[in-house]
Amino acid sequence: DSWPSAGELVLEHVQVAYNPTKSAIQNINMKILPGQKVVIGGRTGSGKSTLLLALLRLLDLETGSIRIDGIDTARVPRSILRERCFITVPQDPFFLFDASLRFNLDPSGSYSDDQISSVLDRTRLWPHFVASSRRQRQDILDQSLTSLAALSSGQSQLLSLSRAILRSQMPLKQRTHTATKPTLLLDEATSSLDFETERYIHRLIQESFTDRGYTVIMIAHRLEAVAQSMRPGSDFVVWMDGGSIVRMG
Ligand code: ATP
Ligand code: MG
Repeated sequence: DSWPSAGELVLEHVQVAYNPTKSAIQNINMKILPGQKVVIGGRTGSGKSTLLLALLRLLDLETGSIRIDGIDTARVPRSILRERCFITVPQDPFFLFDASLRFNLDPSGSYSDDQISSVLDRTRLWPHFVASSRRQRQDILDQSLTSLAALSSGQSQLLSLSRAILRSQMPLKQRTHTATKPTLLLDEATSSLDFETERYIHRLIQESFTDRGYTVIMIAHRLEAVAQSMRPGSDFVVWMDGGSIVRMG
């Protein structure tokens, strides 16, 4: 029950296919140490998102294994993986528009109003919600996402990031498993943001995750965008092409 103890991630000969005739990724080998920051780059369709889905076990492996601290994640229920091992900001953020802003950010009800609104403040969304509602802070959090102002793609990314940053904070109700920090998975998390906002968000990710010892796996089209938030020495870049790793370094 103390798993994962450190969060070391080992991928061996990982192959995934959406249809039986052609694999989407193949022969992926990688070892990621706790606290490392890894950038995965590659052209459209090169298999980056597929690799993340395999990590989350949302896709089954055809061959190979993914182990976290020596345990094959095929043997771990998906809900446990999601809860203990990963914080995900997917390429297409998913929200429940019927549900409240609060529920979308904190479905388990673990955080205080202050924590939620201050995260929204840091991701620069709070003024947007305040402007679109005449109500008090708490009421804004309890309004449905539909009844608040519509979100642009960039604002959706910021909301998805807010959810991730909230999970990096100490919950009011202590969770039972706090031994290891989950790995942050970011799939093109800043692709719809303007340059200045993107730079600011990279700094926020750095402060909230990288500097605090979280492992960060970041998918990006534009490597320049992430280069500025990398620490020298301990990080590496993986370049994918046609479902394979063609360069690592
Ligand atoms: P992008 O930069 O555009 O997000 P990507 O590197 O994330 O691209 P993937 O989404 O991993 O690429 O796709 C890799 C390959 O798998 C592509 O050839 C794609 O056509 C295929 N693929 C992806 N999703 C599916 C799916 N749901 N069904 C069938 N094939 C898929
Ligand atoms: Mg993708």
